[in-house]
Amino acid sequence: MGKALIIGAGGVASVCIHKCCQNSDVFEEICIASRTKSKCDALKAKLDGGKTKISTAQVNADNVDELIALINEFKPDVVINLALPYQDLTIMDACLATKVNYVDTANYEPFDTAKFEYKWQWAYRERFEKAGITALLGSGFDPGVTGVFSAYAMKHEFDEINYIDILDCNAGDHGYPFATNFNPEINIREVSAKGSYIEDGKWIETEPMEIKRVYNFPEVGEKDMYLLHHEELESLALNIKGIKRIRFFMTFGQSYLTHLKCLENVGMTSIEPIDFEGHKIVPLQFLKAVLPDPASLGPRTKGKTNIGCIFIGKKDGKDKTYYLYNVCDHEECYKEVGSQAVSYTTGVPAMIGAAMLLTGKWNKPGVHNIEEFDPDPFMDALNKFGLPWKESYNPDLVE
Ligand code: NDP
Repeated sequence: MGKALIIGAGGVASVCIHKCCQNSDVFEEICIASRTKSKCDALKAKLDGGKTKISTAQVNADNVDELIALINEFKPDVVINLALPYQDLTIMDACLATKVNYVDTANYEPFDTAKFEYKWQWAYRERFEKAGITALLGSGFDPGVTGVFSAYAMKHEFDEINYIDILDCNAGDHGYPFATNFNPEINIREVSAKGSYIEDGKWIETEPMEIKRVYNFPEVGEKDMYLLHHEELESLALNIKGIKRIRFFMTFGQSYLTHLKCLENVGMTSIEPIDFEGHKIVPLQFLKAVLPDPASLGPRTKGKTNIGCIFIGKKDGKDKTYYLYNVCDHEECYKEVGSQAVSYTTGVPAMIGAAMLLTGKWNKPGVHNIEEFDPDPFMDALNKFGLPWKESYNPDLVE
């Protein structure tokens, strides 16, 4: 049916590429392009021989001209951006110049300020609309499936949704005292930032990890979770009717938090460059270099993730509560595609989002967050491609 250019060859890209090959009727041809071509070639070597034709290329996605040249050569129908959030705008520029659809899993973040919000990407709305192409923002799990869950709840279960709590639990154990499950630089920037949530249309800021709750997750058990700022809060508060409050919680174990605090206290999580033996280095980037590569956690990680949304609202004038979630098992993911569940739960929806555009099931020129599309075909695809969802009408609530 079509051709996808996948940029990035890390943990999430690897899963997405496996899933494109499982969906070869839609993904007839893919090109894997990243900074380090050998990583692309290694993925091709693993997956070659199936129905999806695979090629590879070297590209620096910070460089718009290089991207345009690659797009003109490969002529994809969609570009799936699975590099880092710093590359979002250059890749969007290249898509605009070549009139190709765009999908990503994380919103743009400037390299020198750990601040993520949609304003930079939303500024492309008119230009994408005029070019007749679609940018699908945030097609991972959170953001991503959490937005699809919200659109589904709105469409089928509620007249209005007043409260959403997004709960992201990773109960996986990789056996290291400290490691991050996805790109360490992005992960640590996210969790060491101030927390925030939206109430009555206003952002309320908290100190990092200030708000803690304990939640008994289905199929996982009781875990400590902490309120974080998260990018989908911004778009969901606008796109879901009736929102009074929306929060995001993520679970962290005590060992992770103790290590993080210590690293913060000694300055290792800073993104300010420092002089070191005549070179400028960024402490957080140096820390990334010494931490385990998230891709290496796959064979060691045991346990499950449970990510979902609790909705409280009204249907036919009556109060209603509804919980939609997915449970994913790290070892099962590794058996299937050679990656742990955090990469899996992001790479599968990235493939599905691109498939929605390739098949024309979703077609809305402009720049859109995922909850702005019809959730039903995406929900079906989640069940088909390894992330089945479950629902409960009587969940425990978060105070
Ligand atoms: P990795 O660090 O494993 O992979 C990133 C890949 O991008 C690497 O192959 C890297 O190449 C490549 N890359 C980085 N910079 C450039 C560049 N300038 N040009 C070309 N390629 C580049 O990250 P993950 O796979 O863990 O994460 C990928 C994305 O997914 C991130 O944006 C992350 O924020 C997002 N994510 C989203 C989630 C969600 O639920 N929505 C959850 C988890 C992650 P090289 O190795 O050569 O540097």
